[in-house]
Amino acid sequence: MCFFDQHRFACGDWKWGHFRQHCNREYRTGETCGMKLIMQTVPVSQKCKLCDKIDTKQRRRNAEEDRVNRWKREGGKFRASIDRSYDMIRSLDKEIYDLRSERMRKLQAV
Ligand SMILES: [Zn+2]
Repeated sequence: MCFFDQHRFACGDWKWGHFRQHCNREYRTGETCGMKLIMQTVPVSQKCKLCDKIDTKQRRRNAEEDRVNRWKREGGKFRASIDRSYDMIRSLDKEIYDLRSERMRKLQAV
């Protein structure tokens, strides 16, 4: 068992940080063993990359939705743009869904 820092992100996710200390078992070989233990938890004020990505896509999706609502108020003349926007929203929804599933998989893997 070797000791590592743990970086904890604002979103609650975490990742392993720097290696800190060998355990007795592996001290002589200079290598780290497979088991990781937490030396200290380092708070990180940002969200993790994955959540960042989700947020970015979510913002784009919301912006797209705002646009559609604006166009709808203008009546029928933006129909083509609205259809394109809906396609965009659908594909963003799918990307967001995939990213969230990836995040859940990671959480469950721990
Ligand atoms: Zn996260």
